[in-house]
Amino acid sequence: MTEVSIPFPFAEVDYPSYSVFPVAGLAALAGFASLAAVGGVASTWIRQTTDDLELDDAEWLAIGFPLTAGGSVAAVLFLGPIAIPVFAALLLIELFLFFKKRDAVVAEQRQFLRKGGLRALKSEIQTVIRRTRAGNDENPAEPGSRSLTGRFSEFRERLQKSLARPPKSTSAAGARKRRGNDPHRDEQAPPADSQGFIFLKKDGAVAVDASPGSSGLSDNIHNTKRILQKAMELLATDVHFEPHDDGYAARLRVDGVLMDADSISTGEGKGVAQAIKVMSDMNIAERRRPQDGTFSIQAGTDKYDVRVASSPTSYGEKLVLRLLKTSGGILSTGLDGIGVRKRVLEQLRAIIHKPYGMFLVAGPTGSGKTTTVYAALSEIDAKQHNITTIEDPVEYRLDNITQIAVNTKADVSFASILRSVLRQDPDVLLVGEIRDRETAEIACQAALTGHFVFSTLHANDSVATITRLLDLGLDPTLLQTAVTAVLGQRLARRLCKACKEPCEPPPGLTKKFNLDEGAVKHIYREKGCSACGGTGYKGRIGLHELLIVTDEIREQMTAQPSVNALKAAAIKNGTVLLQLDGFLKVLQGHTSVSEILRVTT
Ligand SMILES: [Zn+2]
Repeated sequence: MTEVSIPFPFAEVDYPSYSVFPVAGLAALAGFASLAAVGGVASTWIRQTTDDLELDDAEWLAIGFPLTAGGSVAAVLFLGPIAIPVFAALLLIELFLFFKKRDAVVAEQRQFLRKGGLRALKSEIQTVIRRTRAGNDENPAEPGSRSLTGRFSEFRERLQKSLARPPKSTSAAGARKRRGNDPHRDEQAPPADSQGFIFLKKDGAVAVDASPGSSGLSDNIHNTKRILQKAMELLATDVHFEPHDDGYAARLRVDGVLMDADSISTGEGKGVAQAIKVMSDMNIAERRRPQDGTFSIQAGTDKYDVRVASSPTSYGEKLVLRLLKTSGGILSTGLDGIGVRKRVLEQLRAIIHKPYGMFLVAGPTGSGKTTTVYAALSEIDAKQHNITTIEDPVEYRLDNITQIAVNTKADVSFASILRSVLRQDPDVLLVGEIRDRETAEIACQAALTGHFVFSTLHANDSVATITRLLDLGLDPTLLQTAVTAVLGQRLARRLCKACKEPCEPPPGLTKKFNLDEGAVKHIYREKGCSACGGTGYKGRIGLHELLIVTDEIREQMTAQPSVNALKAAAIKNGTVLLQLDGFLKVLQGHTSVSEILRVTT
């Protein structure tokens, strides 16, 4: 056996320097170990963050860290302790590059390369430390049951989760996006539980303060809070609380579809129903006649108005609660929050800031018409304009705006209120819905006499809106001169970001956009996972077609209009029809072909 000669440069390096071993050698080892630990934690975090934020192009960064860590082992062996600062610098550069990528897509207060973001990060880390400690204190019966490494990995896990969580946003669209982006939502979610939770009466007085830490709350309040919290978390629009032969069931309407959420015993259910009726000022002794009432909830910084309707069923009283988020949401994001394409957004803004005219939003029930109209209205300066709304019922509350509710029982109709409001020098009017000829006529006249009128109409699309108004008996010349634009609208379900799977686009799709075969490599279809309850969809996205009334369109608005001629004129003027707008959103990966076909045909 010959002696193996050690090749250059290994032989040339005086590492470890045994003469000073305890100091330099230990320092080198410690330096290397901490470098490897930082590299490991950072690479896991980066991988998770790239997943959550869907940063495809940052993949190399995620594999960069293990490579760096491996490289540093080699370097320490070859170069000695000097390798540590070199590779620490490399790590920092990689982290810096990644932060830059991440900062480009997250909210300002979470950008690490900014002051506000660093402050938020610091408090985030403090929260995690506090929670980890609290978590350990919860188990005083088993002191020391968790090893140091166990604690460290738990701490790391919590920190990663809270850092990876996509940006906090106050908007409904943001919340939806957050849900879609975040597959870990369910495990880490309820910061909701650590926030205040106060039930308010109609007049704003506190009914029950059910914030964490409040004492003496009844089971009824706990159950009510649990059901409503779940509804808020899932962005439900309605809660159905209904008695069956073996108990009460709570079902939630999420993205337009009902889903089971909770079930409790008959006794508990009656308690919840009673608590809700008390809070909404309903007569608790009356169970045989339908009633309605309202209350509000202040949950953390979010505020909800809840409209309650009761009806007797064979098993007892059923309650349906409609949740309306009055804070943040569409009113704070304006038209940016409704998902229109950029070009349409620019056109919409130009239209709604005109001094007079009429803007109509059309679609079937549940297509988001009201939300769009409010989003548009919220962009108008309420201090400089006298804005009045006439609604049935008042859905969103706006500051500095006069809101009037229609009361058909008292014979207070859209038309009669509109007439009186016009005598109060309004600039901008919102007429909740045009249902009859009288309302349509007064609204058109208002639009012609220096007011801007917003309204909605139950019609399939923008062209159908024109024929519908003519069918109501509206004079074509009035229509021609008063209407500025019509927005046709639909809501399609958004594909769940956690599970959508790529598929080949059908050949007809690329042809529709005059694209070359193979120009679009793949689109997505629904699959289903635990994050979306197996449906493959989560949240919704609006489809829009904007018909601007130009001279060419006006010519077609005759007493007997041809739908095809109107459509052709609209397309010639640049209107992208609903279905096509939907397919554009398919190409962008937001939704699927089958969903667009479901909502547009
Ligand atoms: Zn899914």
